[in-house]
Amino acid sequence: MISENYKKCLSSVKKKANEYGFDSNNITLIAVSKTKPIPDLLEAYNAGARDFGENKVQEIVEKYDKLPNDVRWHMIGHLQTNKVKYIIDKVWAIHSVDSLKLAEVISKEAAKHKLTMPIFIEVNVADEETKFGVKVDELPGFIDKIKDLPNITIMGLMTVAPYVDNPEDNRQHFVTLKQLSVDISRKNIDNRYGNLLSMGMTNDFEVAISEGSNFVRVGTGIFGKREYNI
Ligand SMILES: *Cc1c(COP(=O)(O)O)cnc(C)c1O
Repeated sequence: MISENYKKCLSSVKKKANEYGFDSNNITLIAVSKTKPIPDLLEAYNAGARDFGENKVQEIVEKYDKLPNDVRWHMIGHLQTNKVKYIIDKVWAIHSVDSLKLAEVISKEAAKHKLTMPIFIEVNVADEETKFGVKVDELPGFIDKIKDLPNITIMGLMTVAPYVDNPEDNRQHFVTLKQLSVDISRKNIDNRYGNLLSMGMTNDFEVAISEGSNFVRVGTGIFGKREYNI
């Protein structure tokens, strides 16, 4: 089932990309495997998945050694500064950077390993009280503060859109994120901004792709419902 789901999801990604004139090579399907056991991840891997998303440090650490080493792990959940050190040499990118302190710690820990960590800035576009993320009006100031940190690469922006019945209702938020990203790249901060977008989940990834997403994070659509909805 997981294998079929993954392939179906990947072909929807490609189809949507073509439909809207985007190169599907510029879109990564991240299989969000949080709470799921290793055999499930291996099934997705064998179907072709190489990008896996997790939202807990502990889970990345536990799963890291159990999958082949060509997997690219994506940290997509809220990250505490004191835990950065456990994943800094394990993840390919951190999608959930939303504080100066966190960005500083990531840069510092990356330096210790002589690497540069790709990061996305999480933006709370829908301005939901319960969500993490930098507020829209605070984003330009935030970029100014982190842009010169030596051991991070700012790939772009990430958002977790609200849960809605009709995915079209989230289009406005994807449009906003794209616009914010274009505004930042126009400022041309020494080519230190990648202008990439991490947006779209099971429910709304097709809408996100039509608005220019580069990384879609799909969990339920690949692995099925999670026991604990976290
Ligand atoms: C769980 C999670 C996803 C995947 O959600 P689904 O609706 O199961 O596709 C995507 N992004 C983040 C940040 C998540 O925590």
